[in-house]
Amino acid sequence: MNTKLPRVLVLHTGGTFAMVLDPKQQATKQDKSILAMLHAQVPELSRIAEIELKLISNIDSSDIDSSLWSQLAQTIHNSWEHFDGVVIIHGTDTMAYTASALSFFLAGLTKPVVLTGSQRPLSELRTDARANIIDAVELATTGHPEVMICFDSVVYRGSRVTKRSSEHLHAFASHHTPPLGHFGVHFTVNRGLIKPAVAKPQRHQPSLDTRICEQVFVLDVVPAAPLADELIQALLNNYKGILLRGFGVGNLPLANKSWLHLAEAANKKEIPLVIGSQCQTGTIDLQSYENGRAFARHGAISGQNMSLECMTLKLMVMLGRGVAYDSRHEFFATPLASECGEVLQQ
Ligand code: ASP
Repeated sequence: MNTKLPRVLVLHTGGTFAMVLDPKQQATKQDKSILAMLHAQVPELSRIAEIELKLISNIDSSDIDSSLWSQLAQTIHNSWEHFDGVVIIHGTDTMAYTASALSFFLAGLTKPVVLTGSQRPLSELRTDARANIIDAVELATTGHPEVMICFDSVVYRGSRVTKRSSEHLHAFASHHTPPLGHFGVHFTVNRGLIKPAVAKPQRHQPSLDTRICEQVFVLDVVPAAPLADELIQALLNNYKGILLRGFGVGNLPLANKSWLHLAEAANKKEIPLVIGSQCQTGTIDLQSYENGRAFARHGAISGQNMSLECMTLKLMVMLGRGVAYDSRHEFFATPLASECGEVLQQ
């Protein structure tokens, strides 16, 4: 074993990456050793790094939950001294949620944590898994201290990424900020954006805070369809936080009073209500129109310019950390992991 090679911890959680396609072209889980499969299919990885693989789970990422997010963060934290970087193999469907969770859980990162996966299984002839894992492992050796997603030759900030396609190999899009880098003939980084690599002696352990509350309800609002009273009651009785995705800069129906009733009642019960937008770009501004101002007067929180994934996780983290109700606006507007704030040109 070449001891001069950087050491990379690879955590496998599941997803298409290690699945096989059955004769009907349906992806199914397989139980063969993932490590043996990686060695067999991508032997070149051993030229980039000394790899240690840990099987965390083998699930479809639709089944991810906060205990798995915590387990990932804990594992990374506990293994800190032994690795130069970490790669997480993850299903693409909820990869951006996990990237946001880890961005909040691991503050003050000094090494790379890179998530990747694939749209086609590694065992397939025409697969994107091979290139993705090679790029991800290489990225994990660079020292850039961020939670990142590396997919289809593009490097995204973990708190600023969203899944955009279930068909194209280019599965992700950067949200409200350019990508951090690209793998082409060379690996090129966006120097104004990516956090500079940290030198080895300064790679101290990050702080770990996995407190989170999963009891949040997220809803896309549509025109014309009202909220039933029973649903409002059920939301208030069963959830600790609510996220509504409205229109444009965060406008919601006013003529139909049910939405405002929800905001009013949630505010009385001190249940934070966050407003986002179904628009893909643009910042929430609840002061632009009366259809936003009315909700702001009832305490609604601006989702800023965060992706849905990150907004949801920020709400869960805010509730998990027990942030006082009066501090909710400040908590949401303050970047914890470069997830909001200044909008950089694409
Ligand atoms: N359903 C799969 C998952 O997210 C899709 C993928 O891996 O791309 O686990």
